[in-house]
Amino acid sequence: MLIKRQSSECLSVVAFLLISTLFCGMLSSVSADKSDMVYQGTDPCDYIENLSFDSTSANASVSWQTELGPRLPGSNASANLRLSIIENLTDFSFTESSHQRENFTLTNLVGTYSPANSTGQNVVLVAHYDSRFMADRDDNESMIYLPIDGANDGASGVAVLIEMGKIIPSMELNHDVTLFFTDAEDQGTPSYPKTWSYGADAWVENLTEDYRDNISAYIVVDMIGDAFLDFTKVSYTSNDLWDTVTPITAALGMMENQVDCYGNLGQPIYDSSKTRSVIDDHIAAHQAGIPAINFIDLNYGENASFFGGYWHTHDDTADKVSAESLGLIGNILELGLVSSAWTLTEEPSENNANDNEANSNDGGNSQAKVENTVEKSKFVGYVAIGIVSLVLITILIVDIRNAKQ
Ligand SMILES: [Zn+2]
Repeated sequence: MLIKRQSSECLSVVAFLLISTLFCGMLSSVSADKSDMVYQGTDPCDYIENLSFDSTSANASVSWQTELGPRLPGSNASANLRLSIIENLTDFSFTESSHQRENFTLTNLVGTYSPANSTGQNVVLVAHYDSRFMADRDDNESMIYLPIDGANDGASGVAVLIEMGKIIPSMELNHDVTLFFTDAEDQGTPSYPKTWSYGADAWVENLTEDYRDNISAYIVVDMIGDAFLDFTKVSYTSNDLWDTVTPITAALGMMENQVDCYGNLGQPIYDSSKTRSVIDDHIAAHQAGIPAINFIDLNYGENASFFGGYWHTHDDTADKVSAESLGLIGNILELGLVSSAWTLTEEPSENNANDNEANSNDGGNSQAKVENTVEKSKFVGYVAIGIVSLVLITILIVDIRNAKQ
């Protein structure tokens, strides 16, 4: 009896140890809360010489899209464009979803590339593929109620996404990338904010919590083909995510007074000192807590005013769009993806940060370091669980033998 009581006490202690160790093991195994996660991409200049975005092909797509005719929700041109995207990007799995709004049915097109080693994080690239049904900003009043070509306002963003879709599978990424072609962004009525971005709104409304939480970045490109490209940050977007843009644009020579990867002073394309406001496909995502940003050039044409120039006129034609501008935006997206700028990793502790600093001379990268530390703590947790389990089993065997005696 005495031996048995001692064994029971021993068992209680071991059970306590086991539970505590299991708990610690679980703590070290479970990925960190999203609030502890940060963007910490690697140096964009490491990848600058291997950029492969095809700006000529993107420019040709702009012309092709406008030749389809107005891509109004529910039109044949709209359906043909979706079909062409699906047929061109065979490494992506596509779904379409339709929603009734006002007097039309919109159709969102969503394609995802998911590599075998995906962490599950998802970078979503977004462009509206519809074109505006009227030219409300056109000087010629007799032409106001005719749909526009939408070469810059619609086709330019789609062209960039299609070209991205062609090169993403060879980037060796370890996360998902989704291309989201929104419908009915541009069918709205001025002064009625809710009549714009119907497609993006509907998509956000129908997201599951899990899907939403896995989106590390939601990046809109809209009106980015202007031959006189310039842009700023826009309001209702993620500051943390937008902060990743500065080193990438500087690396590409798109910031005045900043030196690019080749040591040359940049051009005044991205102005980091200003923020503009626009209603667009980023709003609903931002309001749903998704880190969202938007690349949009709000003054279309040489010396154009904001929301002036060729915007929403019949002058928004393919000849106003330049391959070079499409290429600059394409290169931002490509560089952001290959340098892991838009996925989240655990914030390094102070000790790790010091280690990283020490390692940075030989090109040590902080992201790999953090992942390594997480793997190590997981390993320690599992070993501890194993040892305690072994001890428990041994004591049980001894206990059973003593009981028999
Ligand atoms: Zn528009």
